[in-house]
Amino acid sequence: MSALSPYDLSYPELEELLTGWGEPPYRARQLWTWLWRRLATSYQGMTDLPKGLRARLAAELLFDPPRPGALQLDAEEGTEKVLLHLADGEAIEAVLLREGDRRTVCVSTQVGCPVGCAFCATGNMGFRRDLSPGEIAAQVLHFARRLRGSGERVSHVVVMGMGEPFLNYAATLKAIRNLNHPRGFGLGARRFTLSTVGVVPGILRLAREGLQLNLAISLHAPEDALREELVPLARSWPIREVLAAADAYVAATGRRVTYEYVLLAGVNDSPAQARGLARLLSGRLAHVNLIPFNPAPGLPFQRPAWPRVEAFRRELLRRGVDATVRRSRGVRIRAGCGQLRTRHPGR
Ligand code: SAH
Ligand code: SF4
Repeated sequence: MSALSPYDLSYPELEELLTGWGEPPYRARQLWTWLWRRLATSYQGMTDLPKGLRARLAAELLFDPPRPGALQLDAEEGTEKVLLHLADGEAIEAVLLREGDRRTVCVSTQVGCPVGCAFCATGNMGFRRDLSPGEIAAQVLHFARRLRGSGERVSHVVVMGMGEPFLNYAATLKAIRNLNHPRGFGLGARRFTLSTVGVVPGILRLAREGLQLNLAISLHAPEDALREELVPLARSWPIREVLAAADAYVAATGRRVTYEYVLLAGVNDSPAQARGLARLLSGRLAHVNLIPFNPAPGLPFQRPAWPRVEAFRRELLRRGVDATVRRSRGVRIRAGCGQLRTRHPGR
């Protein structure tokens, strides 16, 4: 792991650190504003902090945000994907999606992913390491700085990039709380969506956070046998337990849960499977997001033809289960769901 960055600390931690150095409490407020509201890129520019304090900060809290590398643009769609180089030589990808007034950043929580879902490029690159809270937040701040030039702001964050957020729970939640902090970046809790492959203890823990975050659960199959083939981790938590945890989340937050379902031709896209899914979800405060498979090199699946996707959706709607098809965005620049991967540079 790299050295601690100022973006790894919560507001109370920063306050404690600075008061420990003998600084008055308002210094933490100033520093926090520089970091999270003014989006500073170095301590040098924090001109209302005493020189001595800036020097001490530089010595003790490394200000080394991920360095942007290759940027890919789909100008027609307004989608941007950036490769971010981390201090230890690893790299991650983050995506900006533009839709109407929305400016959504899709963030990664791990370098690679240990879950290894059969249809996911990230899962197929293996697992390198967890991201720190600062590295997770940095992806949002990167795009926030870019957008600031045109007077725009990040309006939504989806934790749907590389990695499984609930296998890096503490860092993910810390990054979200920091971005949510009203004195800093101030993005409302309801503007965040966390997507999990179904890590039950993580869902239950999130229910206890007292945050109004949106939760999305990747289901992908109406029965356990097929789900276990597609999502190896499903062996630990059968569908029944995942749904019970989701119910607890709804009870605690009142938020509707989204179920994600990647449609793979001839694997999980039949009308009978749609009916099976409807049986699981009817009567629940749920919404299904159908994601036609996005191809990536080496993945042995096909996207179903459009009528098949529509038929699947119709089966759900007919049984009272709300469902939409996620428009594939960023696919031309391999920024679509499940297409993010980074080769390990030079090693
Ligand atoms: N690990 C979390 C979040 C990251 S993946 C999770 O699995 O939920 C975000 C979404 O992209 C998930 O719903 C995942 O199933 C989906 N996805 C993965 N690979 C895909 C692919 N090749 N095509 C379409 N969606 C994919
Ligand atoms: Fe990991 Fe999610 Fe990809 Fe599965 S779909 S391998 S959990 S990132």
